[in-house]
Amino acid sequence: MATMLWLQTGACSGDTMSLLNAHGPSLESLVANGDIQVLWHPSISTEPTSHLAKLIEQIEKGERELDILCVEGSLITGPYGTGMFDSFRGRAKIDIVRALAGQAQAVLAVGSCAAFGGIPAAPPNPTDCTGMQFTRDTAGGMFDTAWRSKSGMPVINLGGCPTHPLTITRTLAMLAQGLPVELDAHNRPTAFFNQMVHQGCTRNEYHEYDVEDTELGGRACMFFNLGCQGPTTMANCNSELWNQRSSKTRAGVPCFGCTSPNFPKNGDLFRTEKMGEVPVTLPLGVSRGHYMAYKNLAQAAAPMRVRDKKMDT
Ligand code: SF4
Ligand code: SF4
Repeated sequence: MATMLWLQTGACSGDTMSLLNAHGPSLESLVANGDIQVLWHPSISTEPTSHLAKLIEQIEKGERELDILCVEGSLITGPYGTGMFDSFRGRAKIDIVRALAGQAQAVLAVGSCAAFGGIPAAPPNPTDCTGMQFTRDTAGGMFDTAWRSKSGMPVINLGGCPTHPLTITRTLAMLAQGLPVELDAHNRPTAFFNQMVHQGCTRNEYHEYDVEDTELGGRACMFFNLGCQGPTTMANCNSELWNQRSSKTRAGVPCFGCTSPNFPKNGDLFRTEKMGEVPVTLPLGVSRGHYMAYKNLAQAAAPMRVRDKKMDT
């Protein structure tokens, strides 16, 4: 049984809500099956915070083993590097995270805040937030690039705002069962970050024929005008539906790229920046010249059922 302690730093609790929504496996089943023992979670534990203080002390002294440390929220280093904008019992949370991470077999940054800095680290970043081992897409955050947990892993980044529920519990299950967790260039588990949001989007045929919406709430693709980042964002949102039912794009909302290190982008999330008539950022791996040639051909070839936006989305 793997012991797990969950700390919140500069967080909105969105990843906790996501964790509690997981169904396959659920956190309850991981606990009931004896995979995970929750030493502390701020929304689940019933003990007073004196219990957390005692746990921190015991783990720091090596008197209690910690297998998995989960951190939810941006690491607040202000003011002036002290971290005292975010403290627990008079001690900066960043110091507590450092101490516990040094004792843990594996460390999970749950959510794009803990992984990359996220929304709190967006300009002007008044509290000097950073990610655990990345600052946006630059390696090195609160920990330098060489830092490793006791099992030899860097911080495992579960990107997302919030992280997909199944990404959290399946990573916990893999660690609890001693399975290897392979990571991508941004230290995200490849098992969950190996496809684009664009893959599996029900609006794909509209995208192929360049039939685009100009207003929210429509039925076509949102890439050209409404800021959709599905073709550049690695995440499983359209293959593992949220609440087993839907996703942003299925609900008619553009993908904001929330699993990416540079989330949130510096600009309007509902508008596509363009160079001439073509988006500045193209689908991953596509050249501008080919894209422009293809776009005009695709529009001309669009069948009536697609042009009329009569397909189900
Ligand atoms: S990543 Fe998003 S959901 Fe998670 S704590 Fe930060 S703002 Fe909240
Ligand atoms: S709405 Fe977004 S994810 Fe869906 S097809 Fe268009 S660009 Fe791709």
